[in-house]
Amino acid sequence: MSNPILQAAGSFTGSCIACLGGTDTAIAFRGEPEWCVAALVVLGLPTSEAVATFDLAHPDAPPVLTVTYRVCRDCARKSGKLPDPGLILNGFEIPCVSQPGVVA
Ligand SMILES: [Zn+2]
Repeated sequence: MSNPILQAAGSFTGSCIACLGGTDTAIAFRGEPEWCVAALVVLGLPTSEAVATFDLAHPDAPPVLTVTYRVCRDCARKSGKLPDPGLILNGFEIPCVSQPGVVA
């Protein structure tokens, strides 16, 4: 895989999905595939890359799913719409942003 963004999304290599800087934090998103793609756009990815990233990581996505995107605090704050990401460590909770109307 040569695209570092796709790599970050698919394998959790430790890079923020938006700026590709190293980070140990993440935010989870729960909803329809379109919601999960929109989350990537909110984080700053161009729409085409957001779709490609999601499709690669979830080639057979169910109608509703939960995805966890590794993202740094700066990028989450830059979006202006997301909670601060949580540490990806045992004992820490990663915040989950659910699609309105989707039953948990
Ligand atoms: Zn970042």
